[in-house]
Amino acid sequence: MLVSGSTRLAGVIGDPVRHSLSPVLHNAAYRELGIDVTYVAMPVAAGATGAAIAGLRAIDALGISVTLPHKEAVIEHLDGISDAAHRLNAVNCIHFGKDGAQGYNTDGQGFVASLLDAGFDPQRKSCVVVGAGGAARAVIEALGSAGASRVGVLARDRTKAEQAAKLAGEAGAEVSDIAGADLYVNATPVGMAGEREGALPPGAEQITGSMLVADLVYNPLRTRLLGEAAARGALTVEGTGMLLHQAAEQIRIWTGAEAPVEVMRSAMVEALR
Ligand code: NDP
Repeated sequence: MLVSGSTRLAGVIGDPVRHSLSPVLHNAAYRELGIDVTYVAMPVAAGATGAAIAGLRAIDALGISVTLPHKEAVIEHLDGISDAAHRLNAVNCIHFGKDGAQGYNTDGQGFVASLLDAGFDPQRKSCVVVGAGGAARAVIEALGSAGASRVGVLARDRTKAEQAAKLAGEAGAEVSDIAGADLYVNATPVGMAGEREGALPPGAEQITGSMLVADLVYNPLRTRLLGEAAARGALTVEGTGMLLHQAAEQIRIWTGAEAPVEVMRSAMVEALR
């Protein structure tokens, strides 16, 4: 669709942000749906969060995705935030609408959607999340909300693991191994392209063929973790699943339209190659 006088602006603010796959995902969706929106990457330095939000309000932007370092800092500049964003103290998506600037966090919901895609419903399942950073916290909160019976958090800093586990409510607990898990999630950067590529995250040696193994790392697409888990007979879910579905949820929030997930997936895989 050509940019015209009626085109609405959407995008992602962050620093760094030029490497983001979000423009590829979103623009593929708007093109397919015939929605007159253009999505761009907008570098915004730490400290300029408030100025960026004020500017985006003033120019009647449709919505923006939010990434580091603004996920927490943006909250004080909004008119309201969703329950998940409140619990996580992090916003990854803003909609500028009738109710002003409303903040959401679609990361955890995106992750659960990627599990459902693979035929795995986390309700009443025993889960272990490795890591206690931003992505792990979103996953832990979402697994708790989705009704997991246990959300164990395995992290090298036990205090951070205990804090993060609280996000899953009564199901959450700090753990030191993955025994008995139905779901194993790597939410650390271990295995990412670069110096960590080929490394295995904590607990990986205990993976069995009866588990579903999800990696949040999406570059490379198939990490060593997923390769070894599949070789043991485990079902696997790639990190691109969460990336894809968190964007699909943002599109739903901004436009009300059901996102064309397969078209978005192809565009993303092409860009990653
Ligand atoms: P953070 O830096 O917030 O958290 C990283 C976590 O991993 C921390 O708990 C950290 O522990 C732990 N960690 C780091 N290195 C190691 C190691 N060598 N051994 C054990 N634990 C380690 O990062 P994010 O949560 O933002 O991102 C984590 C990963 O998830 C990244 O690879 C990112 O690309 C990916 N991601 C994927 C998304 C998707 O849509 N697929 C979305 C968001 C993130 P400590 O606190 O002790 O340093």
